[in-house]
Amino acid sequence: MYLTSSYVFDSAAQAAARFAGEQAGFVYSRYTNPTVAAFETRLAALEGAECCVATASGMAAILAVTMGLLKSGDHIVASRSLFGATIQLFNNLLARFGVTTTWVPLTDPSAWAAAVRPNTRLLFLETPSNPLTEVADIAALSEVARAAGALLAVDNCFCTPALQRPLKLGADIVIHSATKYLDGQGRVLGGAVLGRREQLHEPLTVFLRNAGCALSPFNAWVILKGLETLRVRMQAQSLATLALAGWLESHPRVRRVHYPGLVSHSQHALAMRQQSSGGAILSFEVDGGREAAWRVVDACRVISITANLGDVKSTITHPASTTHGRVAPAVREAAGVSEGLLRLAVGLESVEDLRADLGRGLDG
Ligand SMILES: *Cc1c(COP(=O)(O)O)cnc(C)c1O
Repeated sequence: MYLTSSYVFDSAAQAAARFAGEQAGFVYSRYTNPTVAAFETRLAALEGAECCVATASGMAAILAVTMGLLKSGDHIVASRSLFGATIQLFNNLLARFGVTTTWVPLTDPSAWAAAVRPNTRLLFLETPSNPLTEVADIAALSEVARAAGALLAVDNCFCTPALQRPLKLGADIVIHSATKYLDGQGRVLGGAVLGRREQLHEPLTVFLRNAGCALSPFNAWVILKGLETLRVRMQAQSLATLALAGWLESHPRVRRVHYPGLVSHSQHALAMRQQSSGGAILSFEVDGGREAAWRVVDACRVISITANLGDVKSTITHPASTTHGRVAPAVREAAGVSEGLLRLAVGLESVEDLRADLGRGLDG
């Protein structure tokens, strides 16, 4: 762990060569750092990417992609079902600098194609989506991007490379909030952007050097430890989620379960082509609206009440009053985020304990 802000040179000539970029090596930890570089190398290997640039958080990764690759007058086509801060970033911040966004339904490639304009430079999505676990056809959307001369960026937070490798399916850029499953234990913030070296390395590193949202070496070290257990965690958490999804689906108080690993999911076949399992997040709708949903949340003793996800501890949230609380109720309902909907991110506790926890509120 190199908790080092700056590096000492052997000579004035070496300092000059490092600053000029004529000699490889470390200069200053806003540029890069050996521990951060180790994280970048290993995540690139996991995603099958030529290049990885680490960032201070997932949002810093998304900012780096947009600020590094876009300019005023450019246009983004983005999924309507994105992380709330990403929607705010595109609508409120990028719009102030002349970058506009058209929002389209995640699952309809023809809507993406129809939204493309001559100045479209970026297509942006998350799959599966939050909280309804809708699945994008990455290969089909990579064709839309290619035809438009634009880049397809996939926020691979929910699956991680343990379950899904978007670059292999035709995406150009993969984005991570390392805060979630890559760390896996809710300890630190981090992020990363991955893709082709000639496309990303120069613009993203120039952006990070000058904008300063570098990953801290301590956080990189924590996330490196997380990567060592990523595959087994994702497999075990996915298996537990499938078991809970099946149980919830047969529960008389549950109207609907959204989980790509269930055959009842409308895109189950596509999900199983793209992902090696359904992942560790599901949502379900209980009878009785907000009151019944809050009763389930409040009866939890093992499951933590938080909107965070990607931890080995299970978490539950009521999207309509938290993550989607600022969305107009009519828009929310139309999108399927009903008052009875709950999102569960499943951790590594015993499935029996989780079932008992949810059952207490459902049956009570
Ligand atoms: C959490 C999250 C982000 C933002 O990541 P931070 O590390 O919190 O900045 C982006 N996308 C998705 C899908 C997320 O869940």
